[in-house]
Amino acid sequence: MIVVLSVVLAGLLAVIVRRETRSTGTATVAAARPLPAPEPTARPSTAQVRRATAELDRRSPGRDTSAWSVRGARARATSVPILMWHVVATPKPGTPYPDLWVTPEQFAAQVDALRGAGFTAVTTEDLWKAWHGTGTLPRHPVVLSFDDGDLSHVTNAAPVLARAGWPGVLNLAVNHLGPKGLPMWGARRLVREGWEIDSHTVDHLDLTTLDDAALAEQLTRSRMLIERRLGVSTRFLCYPAGRNDDRVRAAARQAGYVAATTVVPGIAAPTDDPFQLPRIRVGPTTTPESLVDQARGTAAPPTVVGPA
Ligand SMILES: [Zn+2]
Repeated sequence: MIVVLSVVLAGLLAVIVRRETRSTGTATVAAARPLPAPEPTARPSTAQVRRATAELDRRSPGRDTSAWSVRGARARATSVPILMWHVVATPKPGTPYPDLWVTPEQFAAQVDALRGAGFTAVTTEDLWKAWHGTGTLPRHPVVLSFDDGDLSHVTNAAPVLARAGWPGVLNLAVNHLGPKGLPMWGARRLVREGWEIDSHTVDHLDLTTLDDAALAEQLTRSRMLIERRLGVSTRFLCYPAGRNDDRVRAAARQAGYVAATTVVPGIAAPTDDPFQLPRIRVGPTTTPESLVDQARGTAAPPTVVGPA
């Protein structure tokens, strides 16, 4: 295990060094390098997987939206905080980008605080339908989004959300699907749990650096692969590291997406450009209280710009 982790770390460092030494190079060179994303969590033991699976089976309650009372003009005018997590696991000392990790205990406390404050989780599709007058929302909606695709989303985040009867939103970089990132069984389980799977492209590249053909491929191929491998269609995009510009947004629309999320801090409003929806970054230093304040809009979200 230590050997495997060392190899992963060495590889990651090599990528970072290469990126930095090439930073004055051409866009084409930069485009070939995936943007930084947190390293995958270590492989779980068979017992851990069995435990998580059993817990999810026991707790998959299905969604009950019958109590959602916000509809019509009120739904069309409702702003929704979209929260952003990355890895939900305890980082080992020396882990790159520790700010992208929250421990399972921190995550559970954050979700408990949101529930205690009256929030109810919805998907991006829920808010989209509400904003377009065809769907209802709960009184205090919130989207819980998870970037990249990591085993910890299945083993650590999903059971907490299942207990709440809440869906998550996975922003999946399709090349994270597999034994080194999010195993297929895990991705399928999230789908069965009612999670929404949105596109985070295929290779997690900086979309603003790609030529038109490569850009279109990242956008269309990711949708196609998500549909083919997981059996769900997605109309929502999350830009890797939030990187987007006019050309990227136009290409996203052209590829069939109807909205996209960024890493610009803020609460998403129906008056926003649907292709520039802000989010609220949640990290290890986000206390449950400050998260509630940020989701309510009574405290400003952090303006940290980092990997995503
Ligand atoms: Zn990402």
